[in-house]
Amino acid sequence: MKLRGEPVRASELDPGFKLEVITHGAARDITACFSCGTCTAGCPIHEIFPEFDPRKIARMVNLGMRKRVLSSPYIWYCATCHACEENCPQNVKFFNVLNVLKNMAAKEGYAPPVWVNQTKQVTRTGIVFPTEESWVRKREGLSLRPLKGDAKGATKLIQSVGADRIKPRA
Ligand code: SF4
Ligand code: SF4
Repeated sequence: MKLRGEPVRASELDPGFKLEVITHGAARDITACFSCGTCTAGCPIHEIFPEFDPRKIARMVNLGMRKRVLSSPYIWYCATCHACEENCPQNVKFFNVLNVLKNMAAKEGYAPPVWVNQTKQVTRTGIVFPTEESWVRKREGLSLRPLKGDAKGATKLIQSVGADRIKPRA
């Protein structure tokens, strides 16, 4: 699903979408956005992937473009640097807005397969990224302790928020 390049149809707008988003306290300032674009101008991910446009996502939320926003792969691109909220003149916590959108998207079956696979990896090993043999050897050479994750603790945490039940988007 594209964020741009397709006409917006009134029939696809859901006026309740922004209200749903702001019920999550962390995202409550999104309705104050006046589309100035400061967030986009300072976003390091936008610089690399112009398709990822915080200003546009904020506008789409406020317009009620529920399906396009939640099914978009771009809401998962954020590097969590917080520059957008540092710079926003309206005090919109855009990083929080994205987290709310990602949670909603995951519940509605739009989680990217890579995210679901990573959750499984953490459940299995307690480590976010698969360990490569070269890292193990390098650590041994530096006399560092072997990498060992807390799989049991990680699984408990993942299960407590229901992330183990999330299905990847088809
Ligand atoms: S900087 Fe703030 S007000 Fe400006 S477009 Fe981004 S979220 Fe909206
Ligand atoms: S927190 Fe995300 S959206 Fe905000 S500036 Fe950083 S990468 Fe961009």
